[in-house]
Amino acid sequence: MDNIVKYPDKFLYKPTEEVWLPLNEDHKTLIKDMIEAMYTNNGIGLAANQIGSSSKIFVMDVSNEKNNPQVFINPKIKKEAKEKLTDEEGCLSCPGKLANVRRPIYVGLEWICQHGKLQYKTFYHLPARVVQHEMDHLNGKLCIDYA
Ligand code: ZN
Repeated sequence: MDNIVKYPDKFLYKPTEEVWLPLNEDHKTLIKDMIEAMYTNNGIGLAANQIGSSSKIFVMDVSNEKNNPQVFINPKIKKEAKEKLTDEEGCLSCPGKLANVRRPIYVGLEWICQHGKLQYKTFYHLPARVVQHEMDHLNGKLCIDYA
């Protein structure tokens, strides 16, 4: 099942909207669908607008075992490294395309978890890149547009 919204669909360029808390049943179903779509398509991150929702939510799983899905609701980057690194990125919405994107090597992220608690963490390496890629999605931006 491939229900991923693909480039050049304009929906991907529309910024998402903050989620009103507490989460309702629709949000819970959406989060379940997002995690399933991420795993089905062998992705390590997925933003809600990639499956047609305008909620400001993304999911990520960078574990080797693919058993540690993390849910980020209303995420905000609060801090970023001055030092940047360029690396290749792929995107489930842009199949067959790779983009070289220069990004800060770490970011401090604030978000609400699926249990409704405020979280803060600094992400480094691959998770830092995934977080920034998914934040771009939520802001209506695609990695291929950096080229
Ligand atoms: Zn993407």
